[in-house]
Amino acid sequence: MTTTSHPEALRSRLDEARRDYTALQNQGLSLDLTRGKPSPAQLDSAGLLPLRDDQYRAADGTDCRNYGPPNEGLRELRDIFAPVLDVPAEQLLAVGNSSLELMHDCLVHALLSKLPGAEHRWVDQQVAFLAPVPGYDRHFAVCERFGIDMIPVPLTATGPDMDVVEDLVRSDPRIKGIWCVPKYSNPDGVCYDEETVRRLAAMETAAPDFRIFWDNAYAVHHLTDDEVAVADILAACSEADHPDRAFVFGSTSKITLAGSGVAFFGSSPANVAWWRANAGKRTIGPDKLNQLRHAHFLRDVDGLRAHMRTHREILGPKFDTVLRIFAEQLEGSGLATWSKPKGGYFIALSVLEGCAREVVRLANEAGIALTPAGATHPYGTDPQDSVIRIGPTYPEVGELEQIAHGVTVCVRLAGYERLAAQQH
Ligand code: PLP
Repeated sequence: MTTTSHPEALRSRLDEARRDYTALQNQGLSLDLTRGKPSPAQLDSAGLLPLRDDQYRAADGTDCRNYGPPNEGLRELRDIFAPVLDVPAEQLLAVGNSSLELMHDCLVHALLSKLPGAEHRWVDQQVAFLAPVPGYDRHFAVCERFGIDMIPVPLTATGPDMDVVEDLVRSDPRIKGIWCVPKYSNPDGVCYDEETVRRLAAMETAAPDFRIFWDNAYAVHHLTDDEVAVADILAACSEADHPDRAFVFGSTSKITLAGSGVAFFGSSPANVAWWRANAGKRTIGPDKLNQLRHAHFLRDVDGLRAHMRTHREILGPKFDTVLRIFAEQLEGSGLATWSKPKGGYFIALSVLEGCAREVVRLANEAGIALTPAGATHPYGTDPQDSVIRIGPTYPEVGELEQIAHGVTVCVRLAGYERLAAQQH
């Protein structure tokens, strides 16, 4: 038997507890035990990076070392990238470290949760995407991973062939999206002209929940004084009465540190709310410390542009070297053509039909690793076997001279062998 089993004793304990509770209420506390957050003392003990107070406090005073808002990312960083990505800062989220991850997650969320304007989840129906070719292999890999059919459409000098695109999306409700790299595309360096942007925004689509995956990976990656500006896709979609049509992506992977950068997602208010409702289940919040480091380093849009000019100084001579050697060795041969990009990271080399795989094989055997032929097309198959992606950013200029020379030798060998075989 306990003391409280006696009615008198129990009443006295209860009275005591009630008094204590009233006293507790009267203290007017505001404490939070709901979240397993590390304490400031624990954060101070993390010797990862010695951070002064001004190195972990955001402009609004947020302690970036901890969980908690702003889960949409730091305002000061979103303010820098809003004009660059043509997304109002209120509709631009700074989240994660990879834009590819955000594109992947958008597809997964659309498969599992109805998009604004959708009748069904994508997983409950057949889904296909338009894939302008040549394009970025990882876009294609995400589609393949989730069983989304890809329909190639030709990429012209001004963007995807819009006659083909409009025809396809008008009649086929399976087509839910299109991959777009609107500026300095991977691998051609193509920039979409105003007319293309307007038509993408305005076109009639059989799918009510059609989305443009606008991967603006190279928004500030200029290589010449002709700094190309691409029209504002969100504004164009709003004007065309399709406010929810575009998802905009970008990142600092090729501005600051690849893998340790910041990725951005921007869209209409309805799409952003949809994203946040889904993404909020997946993560408690982004790496705000990294965002703060970025904001401190870049400072503002002018700081970002100045930083990208230093990249241009590094990359310009590398692209020039490859383009010069291609011109010296291949111009007029009839064996190859190549893009002369004004920005971005790649040159697309088009060799004689049926020769790309052979050129890559020859180069590999000669000790020059090239991106596999076919990587620029859905399912890794270039029907013409013609396009090779050249990425000149990493090697030093001297090494690039050897590489570009070597590639042109392989192009000549494969090309002339093919022409000789055709003569017999
Ligand atoms: N989008 C394009 C067109 C790219 O070329 C690349 C990288 O090459 C990426 C996205 C990857 O970006 P992130 O590092 O932000 O995932």
